[in-house]
Amino acid sequence: MHLPHYNLVFDPKDLTLEDTFSFACHKDIVCFNRCCYDVKLVLSPYDLLRLRTALNLTTEEFLERYGEFYIGEVTQLPIISVNMNPYDYSCPFLNVKEGCEVYPHRPASCRTYPLARYFAESESGDRIELYKIIRETHCKGHYENRPIQVKDFIKEQGLEIYHYYNDLWGEIVLKRQKFAHIPLTGELLDLIYVLAYDLDALREFIKAKELPFFQEEDLAKDSEGLLQKALIIIRDKIITEENLNW
Ligand code: SF4
Ligand code: SF4
Repeated sequence: MHLPHYNLVFDPKDLTLEDTFSFACHKDIVCFNRCCYDVKLVLSPYDLLRLRTALNLTTEEFLERYGEFYIGEVTQLPIISVNMNPYDYSCPFLNVKEGCEVYPHRPASCRTYPLARYFAESESGDRIELYKIIRETHCKGHYENRPIQVKDFIKEQGLEIYHYYNDLWGEIVLKRQKFAHIPLTGELLDLIYVLAYDLDALREFIKAKELPFFQEEDLAKDSEGLLQKALIIIRDKIITEENLNW
């Protein structure tokens, strides 16, 4: 069954971490699983790492089975997303009876729903974290009487660690948008892909001493530690005006 995302609206009100909204999602709700069809499921580097580690797949294997790789139109950064099943547009990780089969490792967007997170600038120039409620006609969780503060929902959904890594990736995207007029060379694109998405290949390059900015000690880092360093290097050393202009 193809369930299009009609009637998707954002509440006009901005929610801060301290604000409260009412929402519950559980197996007995009438709309159980309805949100797992026809989803544009873009994976951040950390989303991909968590998913493919849980599934015990390399990046290449993950892409072969579940995803696709393409280049972002504006930023020209590599992007990975999950392909829905062609016969009913369901997410490939959906078990119709039991729900999400990768629940402990589901991507940040699945955890955040029905909220959307964004940043704005306060009057004093500080960056503030805000949320909007997404309302879709099929989602009945909004009618459940379970008031919860946004900050508690974030915690409940295990989002803190995702926010850390996804904010690092967000800084890369923002920086790249600033330099979008300078095209990425194929070489830089390959390098960003390996650093952001393919840590197995990254380890091989480090072993072969083929990459600047990495040392042999980095091989002792776990995947999360290595991804953290790799994202910081993309942000601070690779997406720079002088680097892009060479
Ligand atoms: S990853 Fe899980 S929660 Fe997210 S769309 Fe797929 S089945 Fe649903
Ligand atoms: S309540 Fe909303 S999020 Fe939960 S299963 Fe139903 S449609 Fe999905």
